[in-house]
Amino acid sequence: MEQRKPEWLKIKVQANEEKADVEHLLDELALPTVCKEARCPNLMECYSRRTATFLILGRNCTRHCRFCNVQKGQPEPVASDEPARVAQAVARLQLNHVVVTSVTRDDLPDGGAGQFAAVVTAIRRLNPGVTVEVLIPDFRGDPLALQKVLAVKPDVLNHNIETVPRLYPAVRPEADYRRSLTLLARVKEFAPRILTKSGVMVGLGETEDELTAVMKDLRAAGCDALTIGQYLAPSRAHHRVVAYITPAQFARYERIGRELGFRHVAAGPFVRSSYRAAEAFTAYEV
Ligand code: SF4
Ligand code: SF4
Repeated sequence: MEQRKPEWLKIKVQANEEKADVEHLLDELALPTVCKEARCPNLMECYSRRTATFLILGRNCTRHCRFCNVQKGQPEPVASDEPARVAQAVARLQLNHVVVTSVTRDDLPDGGAGQFAAVVTAIRRLNPGVTVEVLIPDFRGDPLALQKVLAVKPDVLNHNIETVPRLYPAVRPEADYRRSLTLLARVKEFAPRILTKSGVMVGLGETEDELTAVMKDLRAAGCDALTIGQYLAPSRAHHRVVAYITPAQFARYERIGRELGFRHVAAGPFVRSSYRAAEAFTAYEV
């Protein structure tokens, strides 16, 4: 039986004119966002603050994670003008810190790494001084694809571990827990100055011990920053919410993460990988 949403998950933010302006700009530049495609609960807040996370390489994903609302299906052709359009959106939104993510493109030889590099380069060319965070897929563990992204020196390299290893088959069947950890460890091996970040969703049936073990694994891979947020099912067809984690338990997870040595931990019901990423980035720098 479905559980009722607790009080702390009721959203209180109101839309403002900025939200409509951001939507108009994104439509005009034909740019999808993960905010919309993944039905992120923070969309109203983030758009109203004139921030969004760009979703590159099309709207259709080649994987079938059971928690995710992004469309699955035939991948779209890689658009050669996409880097310029993202760079323009960054300029018009006057962003200081940009987050770029993609669908997973297992059909492309480099998994889309070259397009990530082109987008970062175009953003920087048009917006000097802007910091760029890339939230990348695992590129099927290909170190050369990862190096293509690292070559353009993103300020933050984010790769979500998403859940505890026991739940991978049910939650993200085509991913591999160790492969994701290896990716993060390789960033520190190839480009130690780049900040690494990862994220997990809770409420999928994990235990505190399992989550603590994941945090330890991430630290062992040199991961600098962590986000922990409540999983919310986009529809009844998606993985069910097993538990609503209390704010007190989130505070406990945040404390455990800090004790384990992460430079920054954000934990809370509405925390998402890219939630208030600009503020989080400022916090890593101190
Ligand atoms: Fe969603 Fe990413 Fe999984 Fe694709 S790989 S279904 S975009 S979480
Ligand atoms: Fe978009 Fe991230 Fe904000 Fe969600 S938290 S609306 S994905 S920027």
